[in-house]
Amino acid sequence: MRLVFASNNAHKLEEVRSMVPDYVSVLSLRDICFEAEIEETGQTLEENSAIKAETVREWIIQNPTCTNQDDPIDGVFADDTGLEIDVLGGVPGVYTARWAMMSGGVKDLTNEQEIFAANRSKALRELEGKADRGAQFRTVITLIKLSDGTNRHQNSVIQVEGVVRGRIAEKEYGTGGFGYDPVFIPEGYDKTFGELPAEIKNQISHRARALEALVKEIKSSYDQI
Ligand code: IMP
Repeated sequence: MRLVFASNNAHKLEEVRSMVPDYVSVLSLRDICFEAEIEETGQTLEENSAIKAETVREWIIQNPTCTNQDDPIDGVFADDTGLEIDVLGGVPGVYTARWAMMSGGVKDLTNEQEIFAANRSKALRELEGKADRGAQFRTVITLIKLSDGTNRHQNSVIQVEGVVRGRIAEKEYGTGGFGYDPVFIPEGYDKTFGELPAEIKNQISHRARALEALVKEIKSSYDQI
């Protein structure tokens, strides 16, 4: 079975490939010659992951040569992740990636590490002096199953999510991971994702949990097992 993951992020691709059953080949956007930037214009993680999956689905239908219709593609999936801070009503949520640069924040940064650092500072500033530091990472994955023309499975859309609860630390700890990892302490631990070994993060993370739900869905809905 061939599924396209709407990403070129090597780290995410590796994580996904290590989790899916052996009979699933996960293709990247590069593998299907998709080079455009997908604009994330949705207001929610659900909308944005659906926009990404749908954009790639259309590409596959319209570009059969590169996507190799002799060996059909069975589906496409896309993820979107947000940090949701309780006391801020779920903000930054869908704006997690560029939070520090929004509404009069720091000027446009392009370097990824600088963006991550500015976002972490923003989180610490927003929670300065606040007792309630509860937060969660939430990943939504949209899977569009593609019809193979035999009615074995019809085009249909499924969404799954993965959540890891935790709290925002008082300052940065650790240098591991990426993004907000040095300021996020997952529930049940007293260290940030930036300090914990990658193996622990990869077992309990929002993305790992969403991927587990996706794999269950793939196993049941494609009748492969
Ligand atoms: P994306 O939807 O996976 O691109 O994630 C959006 C943003 O959420 C990223 O730019 C990061 O700032 C943040 N983020 C996503 N996953 C993680 C994580 O595992 N640790 C820390 N930050 C993350």
